[in-house]
Amino acid sequence: MGYKKPSFIENIAEKVGIIPDLHKENYQKFDGDMRQFSDDEVAQMYQNFPPPDKWDDWVEYNPKVWPRKEKKTYQIVPTTCFNCESACGLTAFIDKETQEVKKFEGNPYHPGSRGRNCAKGPATINQITDPDRILFPLKRKGKRGEGNWERVSWDEALDTIAARIRKAIKEDRHNEIAYHVGRPGAEGFMNWILPSWGIDGHNSHTNVCSSGARFGYNLWYGFDRPSPDHSEAKFILLISAHLESGHYFNPHAQRIIEGKMKGAKLATMDPRLSNTASMSDYWMPTYPGTEAAVLLAMALIILQEGLYNRKYLENWTNWEEYLIARHADKKITFENYIAAMIDEYAAYTPEFAEKESGVKAEMIREIAIKIGEAGERFASHNWRSAGASNLGGWAVARNLHFLTVLTGAVGAKGGTSPNSWNKFKPQVHTAPKPQKKWNELHFPKEYPLAFFEMSQLLPHLLKEGRGKMDVYFSRVFNPIWTYPDGFTWMEMFMDESKFGLHTALTPTWNETAFFADFVLPMGLASERHDINSYATHGGTWVAFRQPVLREAARRNGKHITYTYEVNPGEVWEEDEFWIELSWRIDPDGSMGIKEHFESPYRKGEKITIEEYYQYIFERVKGLPETAKKEGLTEFQYMAKYGAFEIEKGESYKKNETPLTKDQLKGTVVDKKTGVIRKNGKDIGVMVEGKAVVGFPTPSRKNEFYSQTMVDWKWPEYALPTYIKSHIHNDVLDKSKGEYVLVPTFRLPTLIHSRSANAKWLVEISNRNPIWMHPDDAAKWNFKTGDLVKMNTDIGYFIDKVWVTQSMKPGVVACSHHIGRWRREQDKTGNRWATNTVNIENNEPGKWKMSTKSGIKPFESNDKDSKRIFWKDGGVHQNITHAVHPDPISGMHTWHQRVRIEKPEPDEKYGDIFVDTNKSHEIYKEWLAMTRPAPGPNGLRRPLWFKRAFKPDESTYYIDKEK
Ligand code: SF4
Repeated sequence: MGYKKPSFIENIAEKVGIIPDLHKENYQKFDGDMRQFSDDEVAQMYQNFPPPDKWDDWVEYNPKVWPRKEKKTYQIVPTTCFNCESACGLTAFIDKETQEVKKFEGNPYHPGSRGRNCAKGPATINQITDPDRILFPLKRKGKRGEGNWERVSWDEALDTIAARIRKAIKEDRHNEIAYHVGRPGAEGFMNWILPSWGIDGHNSHTNVCSSGARFGYNLWYGFDRPSPDHSEAKFILLISAHLESGHYFNPHAQRIIEGKMKGAKLATMDPRLSNTASMSDYWMPTYPGTEAAVLLAMALIILQEGLYNRKYLENWTNWEEYLIARHADKKITFENYIAAMIDEYAAYTPEFAEKESGVKAEMIREIAIKIGEAGERFASHNWRSAGASNLGGWAVARNLHFLTVLTGAVGAKGGTSPNSWNKFKPQVHTAPKPQKKWNELHFPKEYPLAFFEMSQLLPHLLKEGRGKMDVYFSRVFNPIWTYPDGFTWMEMFMDESKFGLHTALTPTWNETAFFADFVLPMGLASERHDINSYATHGGTWVAFRQPVLREAARRNGKHITYTYEVNPGEVWEEDEFWIELSWRIDPDGSMGIKEHFESPYRKGEKITIEEYYQYIFERVKGLPETAKKEGLTEFQYMAKYGAFEIEKGESYKKNETPLTKDQLKGTVVDKKTGVIRKNGKDIGVMVEGKAVVGFPTPSRKNEFYSQTMVDWKWPEYALPTYIKSHIHNDVLDKSKGEYVLVPTFRLPTLIHSRSANAKWLVEISNRNPIWMHPDDAAKWNFKTGDLVKMNTDIGYFIDKVWVTQSMKPGVVACSHHIGRWRREQDKTGNRWATNTVNIENNEPGKWKMSTKSGIKPFESNDKDSKRIFWKDGGVHQNITHAVHPDPISGMHTWHQRVRIEKPEPDEKYGDIFVDTNKSHEIYKEWLAMTRPAPGPNGLRRPLWFKRAFKPDESTYYIDKEK
């Protein structure tokens, strides 16, 4: 940019005195006027972030009074962003005079984000200053959901909840206690808390998010998430829009661009022309649910063209096992393996893939060749998107990894590694034994392979009388709004025999908190402690989210006992909350809980938050030495810089790590498979005569052939395959106006339910119309802004049409993150983004919602609240979706078959209708598609499958438990 000549408008504005005359002679030359600098000089300045030795006394001019020069002195304290899982580094600028946080910028010392953020990072300032935020613990008055609340003390909340948990545990009702998490926080923290209580009480949002893709990856190599090395890749294939809006948005986006700048080609599969697709070299607008077929066609081309990595396939896939199981008549030779694979996939020609997906065969062929040529430098990612949207969506990730295996890019530089190779695992000071309980409300027998808890079915399982939740925590979690079938959640929340005591731990009001008994305000990014570590690239790092005012106070010599002493109101953090709660559940130590919450440094005393983190940081490889050089403790180092780089970026090919002499003592090698066993457990595999760790699968290799799928009654899916989706073109009746609705994408400035308190973000994005191609719009005679009735399997919603060429013809889409609401009786919250709605339930199971008013300006201590110009808060679409759990992975399959109609004259924008009786019937239809446990040996789940909060092995055997 640099100095520009004044525009015509600027000239007039200066002349009539609306703005100062910025262009008079020498005006630009005064100290600090950025406009005298060239583009290069400005770029250099951005690299010159305040150096850490000045973080306690940093002087800047106040930009609000520019061109007047007013100095402001700040203390700069690092933390991490809490607005998506990436946990990018932030630095809080604290006004030294007022001790208020004034702004957030990136943290250049964070190895994942390297000083950069997306819009949601700096918008943390909106969230912490939101006039509608919850500042004190609240308890409901009157009936649940009526909207009346009274302020209570933390002591009252803690004692009430602790007493109820104590009673449940003492009465052996462990499975009636659950912690249900939306946005996770600290790595490993709840793995300490919940097993200490001895409960199988963890529930998550993963089955409406990522478990489909996780399942597909896991079947191959025992790891459930990919870590693509984008910046070193030669070819990048994204299934969905990661660069702009998906998982690891900013850390991945910056590395994808780096890769591109070094010459990598980028291909994106997405029916929408997303921002990512628009920046790609190839856009493949696949018909939703056909991605797995396209990937198999690419695999076939790589095999036919001989572009596969022979050495990798020979050493690192279980090909002998496959030939023995499927081609017993053939000799076990590598050539026969390749020939058999070509035969298996002969039908998946590019022409077949074109017929299924609508993507041209030539493009599929060209990309396949390019992937084959990239070889080990092929990076790819599938997270939610197609893996989270279709019956059999897990096959998308499985087939994508097939390409990674064929090219030998698994764990290679510029390839795609398992995410655990690039992730730090904290070691806490105590190791509670795994719980001896299995909670069938989380893992019912019908879904033995479900990769995570069947959380979307919880209300249906309760409705059926399979159990109850006596003490239930919803933690930064909003199922009434985020999940499908929110009205069934609402029905269950209103029934106290189903949900006994519901505590909502949340930084902001949400639709689920309206139906809680306690609403406990939790801290945002700059108000809480958490450890973060994510697979953003080929290195490993650990970051520290911390309450910045507490750290500033510590540096200024003040002692703080609890974080709520420095946070706004009595907003607390969860770490201290859980420690206090656990202490109160077992005050005399007789239940064996209290001992896990004692200090590792002061016997018998309650652990403090500094002690908890100091213990972990002392055990981070390389951190003690680095901290010592600066004369700091490990905790002080992390509090000062906010992050530490454990490994720089050479975490490749870890499967080839040799087993040590100690590890090899007392092992036996399976003569047939080469698997190395010790004390009944597999610990490695022989490859080229060497004993190496391999992958955590039964064969210790990538499993092209899955005996697990055969053993668990799905032999038809023993190999990577294509499963036709529940919204495949064959099942839609176009003559009735049936379409597939893609409801899974997000706008890049929004988060599921926590951006409604960030005014800048809502100002940018505040509507969720139906994306429709002009050809479809013409067929229906729709123009942009016309009302459209979207009929789902259980009801309908009325939205507006947006006619755009960015949508694949024959498919419609609606963003996932808008349509927030509150009722008139509810506490005012999120007024930047919520419609006021009326909800009626005049007949059992029949629910109607209508919008009474949209978003309006309001009076508050933030002047911007009077300047709101947007009125339309969008429509809550998810609540009209039925639950569709994939019968194998358990993933909710988000895509919807919808029937498009013109609304009746009396139907209005935002109207919603749902019949929860129908939704329960649909739950049963999908349940009937399952093949329940037991599997081999009376198991309820394969022992080698990961499970969050894995219970004691004895609980895996159904009969033994009896
Ligand atoms: S990508 Fe954006 S929202 Fe996510 S952690 Fe980074 S700055 Fe925050």
